[in-house]
Amino acid sequence: MRPSILFPLFAETRTLPGVGPKVEKLIARVAGPKLVDLVFDLPVGVVDRSYRPALKDAEPGRIATVTVNVLRHTPSKDKRRPYRVQCSDDTALIDLVFFHGNADYLNKTLPVGSQRVVSGRIEQFRDQIQMAHPDFIVAPEQVNELPQHEPVYALTEDLTAKNLLKAIRAAVEKVPEMPEWQDAAYHKVRGWPSFREAVLEAHAPESQTDLSPETPVRSRLAFDELLANQLALMLIRARLRATKGRALQGTGELKAKAIAALPFALTQAQTQALAEIEADMAGPLRMLRLLQGDVGAGKTIVAFLALLTAVEAGTQGAFMAPTEILARQHMSALEPLATAAGVRMALLTGRERGLGRYDTLNALGRGEVDILVGTHALFSEDVEFKDLGLAVVDEQHRFGVHQRMQLQGKNEKPTDVLVMTATPIPRTLALTAYGDMDVSRLTGRPPGRKKVETRVISAERIDEVTEHLRRALTNGARAYWVCPLVEESEKIDLAAAEERASMLKRVLGSKVGLVHGRMKGPERDTAMADFKAGKTQILVATTVIEVGVDVPEATIMVIEHAERFGLAQLHQLRGRVGRGEAKSSCLLLYHGSLGETAKARLKTMRDTDDGFVIAEEDLRLRGAGELLGVKQSGMPDFHLADIAVHGELLQAARDDAAMIVGRDPELKTSRGEALRVLLYLFGRDEAVRYLRTG
Ligand code: ADP
Ligand code: MG
Repeated sequence: MRPSILFPLFAETRTLPGVGPKVEKLIARVAGPKLVDLVFDLPVGVVDRSYRPALKDAEPGRIATVTVNVLRHTPSKDKRRPYRVQCSDDTALIDLVFFHGNADYLNKTLPVGSQRVVSGRIEQFRDQIQMAHPDFIVAPEQVNELPQHEPVYALTEDLTAKNLLKAIRAAVEKVPEMPEWQDAAYHKVRGWPSFREAVLEAHAPESQTDLSPETPVRSRLAFDELLANQLALMLIRARLRATKGRALQGTGELKAKAIAALPFALTQAQTQALAEIEADMAGPLRMLRLLQGDVGAGKTIVAFLALLTAVEAGTQGAFMAPTEILARQHMSALEPLATAAGVRMALLTGRERGLGRYDTLNALGRGEVDILVGTHALFSEDVEFKDLGLAVVDEQHRFGVHQRMQLQGKNEKPTDVLVMTATPIPRTLALTAYGDMDVSRLTGRPPGRKKVETRVISAERIDEVTEHLRRALTNGARAYWVCPLVEESEKIDLAAAEERASMLKRVLGSKVGLVHGRMKGPERDTAMADFKAGKTQILVATTVIEVGVDVPEATIMVIEHAERFGLAQLHQLRGRVGRGEAKSSCLLLYHGSLGETAKARLKTMRDTDDGFVIAEEDLRLRGAGELLGVKQSGMPDFHLADIAVHGELLQAARDDAAMIVGRDPELKTSRGEALRVLLYLFGRDEAVRYLRTG
């Protein structure tokens, strides 16, 4: 149960004065539905009203506070013209300008002959300055009511700054004095304020410097958020480890048969990773291990051999892919090996229905299927293994902690879990997402891989690109052509891809295929199969080919609007080529002129093909928020912490969390009680639930 001290912060924003259904919706879009979301919506700017020039010195463009005498009102003659109020001080004139101005109201607030203090943005209009819709108009004796500094928040269309500011103020006032959850000594050394003080101050910046993520105030809040993240992961990990595992000891027999059937030898890195995994499986604790390795590093075979070990140990295995295409691809790639080893494999995706599905499930329940390959469908309730020993989850970044737990819960007997990701994740970020796991890294690539030559080209030179393609195609080459994902509208994406496909058809002849996210499964499979078989030579695609597709004959990758992709995404896309013997190239087309950051990013792509280097660079250039581009990436979404800046705090939070879990695993001490508040505050309820005394 959520501690009662937090109740006020978890009230809906509509309970705030001035927040009706409409504003509530808008606020939900910028911040979220609850007061706590507003509290965590930190200012992105600050308005400084301390600039108080004489009118003749007032600089257009700046926010100024000026003291003026009201001279004359000039109501508008027609609706398109504004209502003007002429004012002056001893030095110059200024017009206060109101569109759709209400005469009664303006005569009351700005009576002719009175003196007023007004604050707002100075604009130049013809040969005079003006101020449109001043933010504040007060009589000189009320000047104290005028704030010197005002926080500025990120807005969404239709939500006025005033509405949001008011709501955030009201929410922030509800923040209670919390029990201190930070380690007393650490808190003291850092010289940080209390949580409540930090929140109040963070929402009351007085200068640009106060907005820096490295102020004591913002650092404290960032640390709190990171501590909640790390503690939650470590508690879950401790919980998983506490439930007894079992030793899955293979005989090596099936594995040997499969390895004998491989057309290549395992690399040193693969052997090493496999040894780590098998040691974990053979150990008494439950395995929760991440296998990280670049695109094409050869993770699939490592996972398969681990699955064989599980089968040797008398259990079953599951291999879960993020998409149907991939599930089918794994199935067809692994089937010959399974046959060689004499292992029974079956496929289960959303498309397996009816009798076939029924038979598969029956066989699975009776233990007559050794390894089940599939998609999310493996999670379905009616899927019951006889005894699931090892579950492999491919391309983990689409699966969250919750799914990990779910998978573990599928079986009465404990299941070891191996997750694999081809998204190279910077070390710091990996900690926040996978802090509960042990990590194996598959470095390097299988032998024979050549570096993909990468060029950055303006889209204006698209004719040269198609010419290059034409020559390559004549020699039998195969190429991907990726059209960008403009997240707002799938329709437009699709239109762009279709148009590109027909343009290429026109220019290059008929062997152009198209594959996109809206296609039905069979259609998509056909398009992929045609490309794989060489029936089509160019495959135009939206980003559905992003994950894992393997067509070794493809040697050219064209990416349109490359500037719109995250580096990690570009890297993944580029990884689709350079898989075979032939020399491969990647053409990054950009549209318009590139900003400095975009230039630097594309240069990185050109200069290196080390996914981990690219990921670190992406983090540095863009910050964590945008790193993976995709929301459903499974990466935690931080509000107060910025991983690109707060790496050191993350490490401290991690050390602290480890110490807490070591000393007070059930969070029973008085600090433990406070830490429960912290976990709930940051929405880590799940972690608390896994405490025995939760
Ligand atoms: P990923 O890590 O992206 O899942 P894959 O497992 O799909 O990579 O491997 C990419 C390609 O490399 C596959 O075609 C696979 O057969 C091949 N491969 C894997 N291991 C080796 C190896 N040791 N030597 C040569 N080729 C290999
Ligand atoms: Mg893969």
